[in-house]
Amino acid sequence: MVILEEAAKILAYGEICDHCLGRFFGKRSFGLTNEERGRALRIALFMEEHRPISLPGPCWICGDLFSRVEEWADRVIEATKGIEFQRFVIGTRVPPLIAESEEIVWSDLSLAHAEPLKSEMNREVGKAVARKSGKTPDPKQPEVVVILNLAEEITEVQINPLFFYGRYRKLERGIPQTHWHCRACQGKGCEKCDFTGKQYQDSVEELIGRPLIRLFSAENAVLHGSGREDIDALMVGTGRPFVMEVVAPKVRLLDLGQIERTVNQDAEGRVSVTLERWSTREEVEIIKSTKGYKKYRILVEIDGPYSTDELQSAIRALKGAKVNQRTPIRVAHRRADRVRERRVLDISIAGEENAMVILEVTGEAGLYIKELISGDQGRTEPSLSGLLGRSARVYSLDVVQVQGHNEGE
Ligand SMILES: [Zn+2]
Ligand SMILES: [Zn+2]
Repeated sequence: MVILEEAAKILAYGEICDHCLGRFFGKRSFGLTNEERGRALRIALFMEEHRPISLPGPCWICGDLFSRVEEWADRVIEATKGIEFQRFVIGTRVPPLIAESEEIVWSDLSLAHAEPLKSEMNREVGKAVARKSGKTPDPKQPEVVVILNLAEEITEVQINPLFFYGRYRKLERGIPQTHWHCRACQGKGCEKCDFTGKQYQDSVEELIGRPLIRLFSAENAVLHGSGREDIDALMVGTGRPFVMEVVAPKVRLLDLGQIERTVNQDAEGRVSVTLERWSTREEVEIIKSTKGYKKYRILVEIDGPYSTDELQSAIRALKGAKVNQRTPIRVAHRRADRVRERRVLDISIAGEENAMVILEVTGEAGLYIKELISGDQGRTEPSLSGLLGRSARVYSLDVVQVQGHNEGE
């Protein structure tokens, strides 16, 4: 019988434990532990050779690592104390010498059904932790990953992030979406920025993130927005879709309604959020690549006298127009100079305010609204300014609506 011959050859290498012996045949047959496989082989061999069974000495491959599974499980439980989680997975950092030992035997004997030590250790410690703590091993969606560092006799805990989906409204001008490094010191901290390292004291990300870091006892909170509005633009209406990533949360079992209330209280009316549901890492990618339409409400200043007819015919000409926009002068220093074509889906006059015109504009994602009005010295064509034959500029701009990736037109 081939298996018994192979087992006899393995035993000839030196004293070996049942786990390591069984693991060389780990992918043969189901419903057995490697220890049971090893034990069965050892018994069969000793019976065949008609000699009394003897217990192996210290294992030359693992150094009797598997007699310490309970101890490692206790270490995992200790290391994850104070962290809220249900699903976990164990990983093992195996010292090269151990990995080498078993690989020598695999290749010497051309064993095709062996399982690496790492996998057995992960599984056995996982089972022991589950039994002792009532938590669930889950390699697909673990909330916590614990690495057993065998060489250093320590555990390394990694808490996976949490995600949720919502919409934010920005109700005060002058707040960037995410924090900008101070231009003078690049974030190191200097007198100009009061040693904060920041160009602006607050950002939408921080206004939402600060209460989250506290509530979740997290390391950080990162905002992934579906696009971004200018720093001086409001984001009103139904708000801008975003996914929030809560980094290394020690607390997980929170109610979204409660989180929403706390964030809105803390933001004191500068930003407000509606939180819709829990989300995933995959949705971050989707939301960042979504190219939906956006609707703006803008206040436009037009120089010199013009008639209502002139304005109305200019607006009609822009409605549905394909606009060619060379990279605007104001962003030319950080973006490549090229011409893009974007459509004005809708544009209409919504009223007047302080002798200025209020326009509502719905544009394809990426349409530069300020330049649609000003013409940007001929770089945007057509433009309101160009059609009127006089200069016009955006005095203030608010985003009223951003199409989410999960809604139709
Ligand atoms: Zn062993
Ligand atoms: Zn600074």
